[in-house]
Formats: sequence, C-alpha cells, structure tokens
Amino acid sequence: MINLSIIGSTGSIGTQALDIARENKDINIISLSAGKNIKLLEMQAREFMPLRVSVSDEESAKELKASLKDLDIDVLWGMEGLNECACSGEADTLLTAIVGMIGIVPTISAINAGKRICLANKETLVCAGDIIMPLAKEKGVDILPVDSEHSAIFQCLQGAGDNRIKKILLTASGGPFRGKKISDLKDMRASDALKHPSWSMGKKVTIDSSTLVNKGLEMMEACHLFSVPIDDIQVVVHPQSIIHSAVQFADSSVIAQLSKPDMRLPIQYALLYPQRRPYPGECLNLWDVKELTFEEPDLETFKGLALAIKSYKKGGNMPAIFNAANECAVDMFLNDRIRFLEIAEIIEDCTQNMKFIESPDVEDILDTQSYVDEYINKRYKN
Ligand code: NDP
Repeated sequence: MINLSIIGSTGSIGTQALDIARENKDINIISLSAGKNIKLLEMQAREFMPLRVSVSDEESAKELKASLKDLDIDVLWGMEGLNECACSGEADTLLTAIVGMIGIVPTISAINAGKRICLANKETLVCAGDIIMPLAKEKGVDILPVDSEHSAIFQCLQGAGDNRIKKILLTASGGPFRGKKISDLKDMRASDALKHPSWSMGKKVTIDSSTLVNKGLEMMEACHLFSVPIDDIQVVVHPQSIIHSAVQFADSSVIAQLSKPDMRLPIQYALLYPQRRPYPGECLNLWDVKELTFEEPDLETFKGLALAIKSYKKGGNMPAIFNAANECAVDMFLNDRIRFLEIAEIIEDCTQNMKFIESPDVEDILDTQSYVDEYINKRYKN
C-alpha cells in the first residue's frame, strides 16, 4: 500500500497522478492540496476521501469547508495547511506537484518527517538543491524524479552501478517557437506561447518551454539529482519528444529511455518505483515513428537557457534570483503586461542587480524571492 499526499492535486501533474491512483487500488490518498480551485478539489475529495485537504487562503477554506460539511475531512489553508499535508503522519509518500518556489518549505518539512518524495516541482531543487539534497541524504529519504527528462535519466541509470556518467543528453522538444528568430518572437503573445507541440501542461511550465527557461531549470535540477557538473549536460533538441533523455557512459555507450509523450508514465514510475506496471496510455510502436531528429539549441535567440547556465555556475542564491525573476516575468507575460522577449530581459536585469549571497539558507532563498518580486514590481509594473 502506498499512502500518498499530493500538493498541487488540481494541476496538470496532480490530476494525472490521481488518474494513476484510480488505476492502482493500492494507492491510498491521505492529503490533497490546491490553490484556489475549490470546485475540483471538492470533487477529488469526494472521490478519494482523504483525511485532509488544504487551499491557499482562508476565504477558499471557508467555502470548501461548507461544501464538504457532510464528510469527515479536515479543511486547512495557507502554508500551515500545506505543511500539514506534506508531512502528515499517515502518509509515506509526498508528490510535490505544486508550481513555483512555494514548494520549497513543504518539501523540506516532508524530508524532515522521513517521507519519500516524488518530485515534479522543479523550482524546489533549482533554488534550494544545495540544502535539500544533503538533507535527504542525512534523513535517508529518496527523491524520485517525476519530470519526464529526469525520470528518463533515472531509468537509464538503473543497473549502472558505480559507473560514472560521462554525459547526460537532456532532450528538449524546442517548444512552440523552435526555429524562430528574435525578429519573429517580438510580437508573440501568451496565446501563441501556450500552444505546445507535444505536451499538455500547466501554463507556467508551458511558457517556460517556449522560452527554453524550462530546459535551463531542468539542467540545474539534473545537476542536483545526479551530482553532475552542468558542463556534462548536453541539451539536445528533439522535436518528436520520443527520447525523453539519455546517459552516455565512459565507454561512449548511450542508454536512452523512449515512450510516447505522456506524463502519466513518469508519474507512475515514481509513485510505484521500483515496480513497473501496465499504464493506461498508448504504447510506443517504433514502426509508427517515422523519424527521430536532433538539433543544437539556439542560445542566441533563447537567452533564458544561456542565463540559466550562467546562474547555476555562479551558485549561491543566483539560481533562486534567476527562478524568482522568471516566475514573476512569466506571470506578467501571461497577464499581457510585458512582451515575450522581455521575460529574458527581466531575468538578466535581476541576475545583474540583485544582492548575491554565496551560501544562502532557506530564509535567504525565500527573502530572495521577495526582493526580486519587489524589484520587478517597482521597475516594470508601473
Ligand atoms: P499547474 O499550474 O497545472 O498546477 C499547479 C498546482 O499547484 C495546482 O494544483 C494549483 O492549484 C497549485 N497551486 C498553485 N499555487 C498555489 C498556492 N499558492 N498554494 C497552494 N497550491 C497552489 O502546474 P503543473 O502541474 O503543470 O506543474 C507543477 C510542477 O511540475 C511545476 O513545477 C512544473 O514545472 C513541474 N512539471 C510539470 C510538468 C507537466 O507536464 N505539467 C512536467 C514536468 C514538471 P490551483 O489549481 O487551485 O491553482
């Protein structure tokens, strides 16, 4: 039996994880949390009967409590509620499917409480990987990647023993603007950027894919998860999204993981690891795959990726500055307040002008987010 709590249960990853729970009756749902989507959270609560649910604010909690009054389910809210969901005693596993830096604190709480972590939220390791990975080691807690690329790398490493990774080949679909140049991108709107060619995901990660910032966040996450230097990660644009990433070993042999692009597969692999069970999606048939192609990423046009690499190399709170600036800029872009190319400009501005801290603690990382938000609000939102 897997006793599972999910933070971010109403999002793209969260709802697909619940599809997996529907198919696997030995997954028992303990806690669910969301932001403000109380309609969907109520439906999930009625179906899965968790012990508790949590939402982002008191008002939403009151409303949800009223609609769930016929059931014996605790309704919580805010960071306290999120933490309670993340580390409640009855659960053994936490799926962190929440979006953004808000995932850092509950993940740390869950590790301290000894929970196995299935990690979709990439912002957590990007900003606090230097704190979280040693903590997980100290507490003997497994961090199982959910992101398709990291799941692929993790799967390629099964059976690799002590063999050193020579290179990680991190694949990227290239997003909706693959092949475009700066002049083509200046008038792109959120509606254009949200048309991802191969994956259906939440809005923030879809915009991150269009800027290639997502690939930069994934490079940083891979460095933490697999203890490799960033220079040993090669980003390979592979528009068919069939090879989800690969590992090259010392003898130059490359082991890759392939499947149809369907997040339910890596979610299920993480939740049920080390078991492999049938999954509800379509199987890959190589006879049907006409071609697999590979390209170099265009770092001149998609500056966000180049800035991510630079930020990671600088270390300290620089990845947190990078990430916080991106979160804020993406939100503004989604609300039509800035243009597409300004996302990378804002990130670059913040990485050049915010206070650098060499060895940040969690408090410093959370403060970094507040300073970055304040800076961007003052400078760009008027
Ligand atoms: P979504 O935007 O679809 O879902 C985000 C979830 O977080 C929702 O349940 C949302 O609740 C909840 N949430 C947002 N803000 C708060 C808050 N302040 N307090 C509590 N809950 C909150 O995101 P995705 O599922 O697409 O992505 C989740 C994470 O997984 C991201 O870090 C992303 O980078 C990563 N990821 C996603 C992939 C995908 O295919 N979607 C692939 C690989 C990684 P509500 O619905 O109420 O707003």
